[in-house]
Amino acid sequence: MQRITILGATGSIGVSTLDVVGRHPDRYQVYALTAHARVRELAEQCERFRPEVAVVGSADAAAALSAMLQEKGVSTEVAYGEEALCRVAGAPACDTVMAAIVGAAGLAPTLSAARAGKKVLLANKEALVMSGNLFMEAVQASGATLLPIDSEHNAIFQCMPASYSREPARHGIAKVLLTASGGPFLKRDVATLESVTPEEAVAHPNWVMGRKISVDSATMMNKGLEVIEAHWLFGAAAAQIEVVIHPQSMIHSMVSYVDGSVLAQLGNPDMRTPIAHALAYPERIESGVAAVDLTQIGQLTFHKPDFQRFPCLKLAYDALLAGGTAPAILNAANEVAVQAFLDRRIGFRTIDRVIARVMEALPHGNITDIGALLEQDRRAREVALSAI
Ligand code: NAD
Ligand code: MG
Repeated sequence: MQRITILGATGSIGVSTLDVVGRHPDRYQVYALTAHARVRELAEQCERFRPEVAVVGSADAAAALSAMLQEKGVSTEVAYGEEALCRVAGAPACDTVMAAIVGAAGLAPTLSAARAGKKVLLANKEALVMSGNLFMEAVQASGATLLPIDSEHNAIFQCMPASYSREPARHGIAKVLLTASGGPFLKRDVATLESVTPEEAVAHPNWVMGRKISVDSATMMNKGLEVIEAHWLFGAAAAQIEVVIHPQSMIHSMVSYVDGSVLAQLGNPDMRTPIAHALAYPERIESGVAAVDLTQIGQLTFHKPDFQRFPCLKLAYDALLAGGTAPAILNAANEVAVQAFLDRRIGFRTIDRVIARVMEALPHGNITDIGALLEQDRRAREVALSAI
């Protein structure tokens, strides 16, 4: 029996994880579920999965959750705040942690799971983008198992040798090819992008996801963050990570070997596949996702990304090359700019201008410890807000 903590249980990834877990009650037991504010959904999840602990964002949310659970006759312990998130992520009673909080808010609990040597299923890419070497060192020091949930990285992981050691050259790997759908604005006239609405930006053609990552997909900052994520997960240099636009989202990424072989992982665009893969690894379990019917799809197409249309992708490559705290600054500026866009305070093309401004304004040093990193994150948010 694997005992699981799901950080961000009420989100898109959290709900898909519970869907897979619910199909295999003989293998998985839920130890803890967490949510920020969606108390009613969390109460329903607690009623069905009976976790030992549930964590929410505030004292008020905790009081509301306790009242709902009491009414339902559910005895789950209720806690709130970051310390409680870190506690359930590192608890001895849990084996596996699904890190599916969105944004920098997920860093502390995800790191807590890594430090406690858990099997960490990483969806929260922002946590790794921010903390880079600190996170990877924590994984190494504790002997934690880090498995990627992001569909691209999960695909790459599946296309690599089982013994992979984060040294591409040692395994004959020439390149990692990250596929990208191109999002909802792949073909839209660039001159009209400033005026697109949040509703248009979150309407992704192939995937149903949370609002923040959906906007990131529309700007392609999501792919930029994924380039940085691939660097840390697989030890590949920026020049070895190539983005390929593939609008059908059937190939989730590829690995190109020096002998000319290119291995790809295919599947319908449904996050339950990578989630089931990581939950059961190295075994395989049923996920609820139908098999691919290639004759139904007919054609798979590919082309190069355009940095004029997608300046955020270029900004992310620049941040990776700059190194140190640059990716954390990029991430913080992006979180603030995306929120301002969702709140209709700035236009779509102002997102990349705000990020560029913050990147220019702040010096980026080495990442020495989490305290210094969080200070940079705070500074970058301040500068982004004043730029907005
Ligand atoms: P979402 O917005 O649907 O869910 C976010 C979850 O985080 C919710 O449970 C919410 O309660 C919780 N949360 C939000 N703010 C919080 C805070 N301040 N403190 C504690 N908890 C908080 O997001 P999502 O689409 O499920 O994405 C989650 C993560 O997974 C993101 O990092 C995203 O980049 C990554 N990811 C998502 C997908 C996808 O298909 N949705 C694919 C790949 C990677
Ligand atoms: Mg992805």
